[in-house]
Amino acid sequence: MSPSPATPPEPETCAVCGKSTANGRGFARVVVGGRAVELCCPMCLKVHQEREVKRAEEERTGDKFLGWDEKW
Ligand SMILES: [Zn+2]
Repeated sequence: MSPSPATPPEPETCAVCGKSTANGRGFARVVVGGRAVELCCPMCLKVHQEREVKRAEEERTGDKFLGWDEKW
């Protein structure tokens, strides 16, 4: 029997850079798919939002575009 620590329902580290956001030090908290995500600063919030947009776009175009990079 290993005493597995209970997973906290809400993260206390920045989802982008991993900095601690405990004790109200976070800049923003967004909920993605029912999961709370902490961001430590406006920059990380922006990066996170851009990631989410990109992911949503990939999911939408995924069936006709198999992950090729359009750059070349
Ligand atoms: Zn951060």
